[in-house]
Amino acid sequence: MSILSQIIDDANMKNITKEFSRLGDKCYLDNAGAALYPESLLRKINEDLLNSVYMNPHSDKYTKDCVDQIRYLILNHFNTDSSNYSVIFTSGATQSMKLVLEAFQFHNETNNKGCGSFVYLRDNHTSAIGLREIAKMRDVDVLHVSKDEFLDSLITSEQMENNWEEQQNHSGNTLFVYPAQSNFNGFKYPINCIDKIKNGCLNTQMKKHLCDVDCNWYIMLDVASYVGTSKLDLSVTRPDFICMSFYKIFGYPTGLGALLVKNSSANLLSQKKYFGGGTVDIVLSTEDFHIKRQTLHERFEDGTIPFLSVILLKHCFDTIYNLIPKSNNIMDVISYHTFYLAKDLYEQLLHLKHVNGSKAIMFYMDSDFTDIHKQGGIVTFNIMREDGSYIGYAEFQHMAELFNIHIRTGCFCNAGTCQRHLKLSNKELKELYKSGHKCGDEIDLVKGQPTGAIRVSFGYYNTFEDVDKVVAMITNCFVKTKPVTPKRQLISIEGNLKLPTGKLLKTSNINIMIDKTVDSVPRYDEQEFEITLMEIAIFPIKSCGAFKPQSWKVGHKGFEYDREWMIIRENGVCLTQKQNTYMCMILPDINLEEKCMVLNFKGMTSIKIPLDPLASKYTELSLCQSKVCTDIVKGYDCGDDVANWISEALGISFLRLIKQSDDHERVRKKNLDEKQTLLSLSNQAQFLLINRATVKWLQDRISDPSFVDDLPSVTDRFRGNLVIDMKKELVESEWKLVIIDGHEFKVENQCSRCQMVCIDQKTGEKTVEPLRTISKEFGALKFGIYLSFIGHKSKNCVLRTKSQVVVKM
Ligand SMILES: *Cc1c(COP(=O)(O)O)cnc(C)c1O
Repeated sequence: MSILSQIIDDANMKNITKEFSRLGDKCYLDNAGAALYPESLLRKINEDLLNSVYMNPHSDKYTKDCVDQIRYLILNHFNTDSSNYSVIFTSGATQSMKLVLEAFQFHNETNNKGCGSFVYLRDNHTSAIGLREIAKMRDVDVLHVSKDEFLDSLITSEQMENNWEEQQNHSGNTLFVYPAQSNFNGFKYPINCIDKIKNGCLNTQMKKHLCDVDCNWYIMLDVASYVGTSKLDLSVTRPDFICMSFYKIFGYPTGLGALLVKNSSANLLSQKKYFGGGTVDIVLSTEDFHIKRQTLHERFEDGTIPFLSVILLKHCFDTIYNLIPKSNNIMDVISYHTFYLAKDLYEQLLHLKHVNGSKAIMFYMDSDFTDIHKQGGIVTFNIMREDGSYIGYAEFQHMAELFNIHIRTGCFCNAGTCQRHLKLSNKELKELYKSGHKCGDEIDLVKGQPTGAIRVSFGYYNTFEDVDKVVAMITNCFVKTKPVTPKRQLISIEGNLKLPTGKLLKTSNINIMIDKTVDSVPRYDEQEFEITLMEIAIFPIKSCGAFKPQSWKVGHKGFEYDREWMIIRENGVCLTQKQNTYMCMILPDINLEEKCMVLNFKGMTSIKIPLDPLASKYTELSLCQSKVCTDIVKGYDCGDDVANWISEALGISFLRLIKQSDDHERVRKKNLDEKQTLLSLSNQAQFLLINRATVKWLQDRISDPSFVDDLPSVTDRFRGNLVIDMKKELVESEWKLVIIDGHEFKVENQCSRCQMVCIDQKTGEKTVEPLRTISKEFGALKFGIYLSFIGHKSKNCVLRTKSQVVVKM
């Protein structure tokens, strides 16, 4: 059993986690996406803002001094001072990089001989790759080097000795940008090699591309990912330009970053064109004449900087300096702490095996956690099934959400590294794009190959329990083994920069599970069996309970009154079952005769609201409904009484009930050239059809003894509008057209079920099933088919249960 190391002792760790009690049982593992802010930070910030009078720093000397004080603090944090580096406040790492590219002097003015190039590491963040567009606009050659080319150049340049300081007379200035730490997998690139790059160690790469190697090298280091959990010592490593965002360190504030410029390289930023408020010494409005300010940051901070955010950074520094035990540099403590958490996870996953002995995890790492100088607190991987096939990251994501674990999946804005590790060629990527895959979508597997990965990243507030939660979730859902928690031991990092070499853990106690293979789905060309419509369900309020009439009218948006209401929070954001599982226990009852809807909730007296919002003079409003395809929904607020009733039922203050207004019409996304389909607030399509035989088939395969739902309850979890019954399971995915009692429906696509199916619709309780079994049996979370209404041959538009269903393939 391995001894893995714990850096922060339990008492201190308790102190830290107390600051994040708002997480509840949520496990946050996306520190590389954004750090979380500690609670006491907000208290300090509030107090400061309530007691101070800060004004525009352009007009108020005191505020300006406070801002300058922060510049000092930042430099101090990175172990340097204003005689060496200058701080320019920006909106983030991305803007910092853009500023440099726009202002960098690629031409060497002193001898006017030539122009340098823009060179980037392929494994950069997208924000750095995008800089090439600015370089192209500025007529600068663009080149890229691979990770191996870069690292090899550093090794082979060992012998070169010329001193770059003395030779500033090359023909042009070349800018090289690379990350100090990969946001993809936490690999730390060497940062003690700035002099080697300046000495031209990359010239051999330039020659390969027949480029002029007679240039001065300048380095822009993207430390956005690195500085969140590592110490950057600018007295040791001295890049020319350094880009960062503060939310990646402190979690707060967002929209604030910095560009640090080495003073001796500041003159290279001579090509800045634009000038904004505060950046000029003189400007004439009638003549093309202005002189920019001399002080670097005054020249570069266009307009008014977010001075309140800047001033509040003081509390950000104070809070973590107070929170982290100080036997060492606090960033070293954070660095070791996060490194050991990631190493612990890495080693537990490394030894995860399926019952048949096949390995369960495919890692996308560039280091093996033996050297903290090469690896940060991030683990990136995909999970494989027993037969070696991959589990898609989107599917993993749904499971993780169900377990209340927040993990980032996809390619994390790092196409280069993603492509390298997933072994996707440019051609393949372009084909994927053509077939509809875009960055950030849910197409996680194409022909069985993953298009992205799972990234677990740790912050100082994470604990070994978080590691165990992830491992438990993976073994619970995807790999049937019992994890063995490694022994953890408190160690000190003082003078102990080498890791203790422990033996790796072994997993034992494997639970044997009998795997059931899916029979291949038979094709039916003719409908040779009887199908009946068993159930009609409408969900008047989005995410709330079902109303099941015997017959119901089909309108132009789907079933009449289906998802015409929604519950919104105080901030206008729509509430869904994902955030509050008890929504399904609000049971609406529509009474057409009385023209009203009655809402029922266990333990409360029912409440009645009119169906026609105009009948009761509701206030009209329009709100942006990002949950439903990012569009504006016009609606009516249904008043205080029902709002209070719902707030009380769900235990969330200030909820409102909104009815979609009739004149507003949502159109189904995609296929814009086709006839447009109108939608209510349902997410994807007008109708969801569920085949009860398939649900039965699935239910038979759920082996979890704690899952005791009967067939109707399992069926309810899928929240279908039309539930059919027939003798055959799994055939519905083949259908093109469904005709129910003369009403024709076109089959749009299969429904990719989200984790909502794991909510027991009677109790609001979350279970792992049936998602786990769907994932196991289908390899993808697809269940049920979406339909849209085409038209009807009968005289009325009413669907009735027990009707015959005819399908066409
Ligand atoms: C997050 C990140 C960026 C982009 O930072 P923004 O805050 O989005 O500007 C760039 N590079 C790396 C390595 C990052 O991790």
